[in-house]
Amino acid sequence: MTIAKETAELLAKLGVAKEALSGGDLVVRSPVTGEQLAALKQISAADAGKAIDAAHEAFKAWRLVPGPKRGELVRLLGEELRAHKAELGRLVSIEVGKIPSEGLGEVQEMIDICDFAVGLSRQLYGLTIATERPGHRMMETWHPLGVVGVISAFNFPVAVWSWNAALALVCGDSVVWKPSEKTPLTALACEAIFARAVKRFGTDAPANLAPVLIGERGIGEVLVDNPKVALVSATGSTRMGREVGPRLAKRFARAVLELGGNNAGIVCPSADLDMALRAIAFGAMGTAGQRCTTLRRLFVHESVYDQLVPRLKKAYESVSVGNPLETSSLVGPLIDKMAFDGMQKALKEAGEHGGKITGGARVENGHKDAYYVRPALVEMPKQAGPVLEETFAPILYVMKYSDFDQVLDLHNAVGAGLSSSIFTRDLQESERFLSADGSDCGIANVNIGTSGAEIGGAFGGEKETGGGRESGSDAWKAYMRRATNTVNYSKALPLAQGVSFDI
Ligand code: NAD
Repeated sequence: MTIAKETAELLAKLGVAKEALSGGDLVVRSPVTGEQLAALKQISAADAGKAIDAAHEAFKAWRLVPGPKRGELVRLLGEELRAHKAELGRLVSIEVGKIPSEGLGEVQEMIDICDFAVGLSRQLYGLTIATERPGHRMMETWHPLGVVGVISAFNFPVAVWSWNAALALVCGDSVVWKPSEKTPLTALACEAIFARAVKRFGTDAPANLAPVLIGERGIGEVLVDNPKVALVSATGSTRMGREVGPRLAKRFARAVLELGGNNAGIVCPSADLDMALRAIAFGAMGTAGQRCTTLRRLFVHESVYDQLVPRLKKAYESVSVGNPLETSSLVGPLIDKMAFDGMQKALKEAGEHGGKITGGARVENGHKDAYYVRPALVEMPKQAGPVLEETFAPILYVMKYSDFDQVLDLHNAVGAGLSSSIFTRDLQESERFLSADGSDCGIANVNIGTSGAEIGGAFGGEKETGGGRESGSDAWKAYMRRATNTVNYSKALPLAQGVSFDI
């Protein structure tokens, strides 16, 4: 069976109408073979505006449904995702080229955030605060915010939607999603799965609560500029964030920006090298280097460099690269030719900066439009040139260090601030790494790699990563508006700070 035929069958099982897959000009390809899967119709800017209007009407009804009841809809969404995990996971593998366990893992992440959000739906509480005035009570209340716009990247085509949607829905918001133009089929599948949950939930869920808008960046811009969209959660490159951020700021809309990473690891003299090796291999080569949290820079202490780096190089030379659907390869394809060209350009520049390159060449698999590469390990004399930027491909730059303070400075000397890790058994080093003058990233790990976060923590990063936080902890607060309420139950009207104003 061709991948296109399998895709059509999977989509039919998930509830996507066959007619939705053809007749348009948005060509969708599988990076696994490069073959065309569908040609989707794109929504016009005018119709996108109408969809936002309708989602705004949905918000006005949904905000009045009690939080725990809203949680019931997300519980049903989680159930539907459990029931369709195999099909959706497979579709993720087909559309993005992820190995099967990662395709399934992405759907598991969706289920996990639904579970989290269900519990959260009974915990959307604020504080009661001591007041300075007698006979008064001060408290804060959290209210639904409005329409939440979600713009997502190709590499986590469904999890990012669920991180946002599960929270936004229990918070009483409606959600309008503009998925990546490279991965719209999994988005249509999610829309159909959500529709099943809504059907089971019944009439308390308004129509148009979570529509999907198929289109390119122009449709993302419609979400960004529409005054009815209270919050835009945008995941993608720093380039995209630089465009989106100021436009949102101009109309004082809220922004959750989840942008690029240039994540580093430090291997210290006391590190468990076997553990470090496995963590580095998964972090740097997993998902073919196409995770925002992919390990891209590695600093190895000079005392262990010659023990670790040759072993790493061997892993780079031997890791299996190939069709993730038909083989047990650990490294699948790059998303497209542009990604391949970007990788080759970065490697060339690294060579010009004195880098010694292992790997990086194209691996032929009989499909001229599929781009498989052997991951590249580049030993760099110093942190310069392409090492300072994110190249969204499997390149690991390895550098030697001798002094801990210096390596901390180097670690933080890049624009992005997403994820970081240290491998050490020295308490002073690990605590320092996690301290105020340690890693400047939103995620800082000890003895595990940079990628593979769980949903329970708030996810996101600093600096050019955009500063947004999604998923667990108190990230939900971005999806609600806070009101501070002061109630006077006395018979007097004392003013704060002792001010008198007697008329
Ligand atoms: P991209 O920036 O090319 O596109 C991301 C999304 O933004 C797409 O849906 C695109 O249509 C939209 N878009 C682009 N320009 C826009 C604009 N001006 N206005 C509105 N929408 C616009 O990114 P990509 O290639 O799909 O994904 C890879 C990038 O995403 C990497 O940089 C990666 O690090 C980043 N990423 C970050 C996170 C995170 O949580 N920090 C997660 C996943 C991916």
